[in-house]
Amino acid sequence: PDGKTMLIDAGEAEAGERIVSFIRERGYKKIDYLIATHPHADHIGGMKEVVQSFEIGEIYMPKASTNTKTYENLLEAIAEKGLKIKTAQAGVQICAGVELLAPIGESYEELNNYSAVLRIVNAEHRFLFMGDAEILSENEILEAGYDVRADVVKVGHHGSGTSSGDAFVEATGARYAIFSVGAGNSYNHPHVFVVEKWQAAGAQICRT
Ligand SMILES: [Zn+2]
Repeated sequence: PDGKTMLIDAGEAEAGERIVSFIRERGYKKIDYLIATHPHADHIGGMKEVVQSFEIGEIYMPKASTNTKTYENLLEAIAEKGLKIKTAQAGVQICAGVELLAPIGESYEELNNYSAVLRIVNAEHRFLFMGDAEILSENEILEAGYDVRADVVKVGHHGSGTSSGDAFVEATGARYAIFSVGAGNSYNHPHVFVVEKWQAAGAQICRT
């Protein structure tokens, strides 16, 4: 909202180069806010490249760790740059109009539920970026009383049936539901009934 730049996740490792050139082509040299929603390879794989390629303002990650090489490589790249990781958790205000609604709890069985969920609000529009947050996290957000109404929702967990619970979809009142999925992916994402659920709630579907 204030002319700053933010990147939420950076895809698989092989996407790193493409993401870096995409951002460079648009003339950006600095990423003011870099968000790693959770440490799964399909979200942080390309982030090492991003960290090494740009000046980074602040970097946010949830307090969830894994012992994958991808994760360790990213932590190394962050440390080499002398950056300190800020904790992504509910209630954190990243900048004006940008607030984290999750993770709310301290620990989860499922790494996806550590996902940082972002709500971005400006004068005209409201956005929700769900990461891979599942129904458990959605319900915590609703119970916490957060206002989740949004024009645009980046649907949780690539349109998997483990996310997009009825109550949450209903509560967003979304006009657009964005599904970030690889074409012909082996998970069958997005799941048909999830797409239909967002449609039935009145959202137009956009997909990668
Ligand atoms: Zn994912």
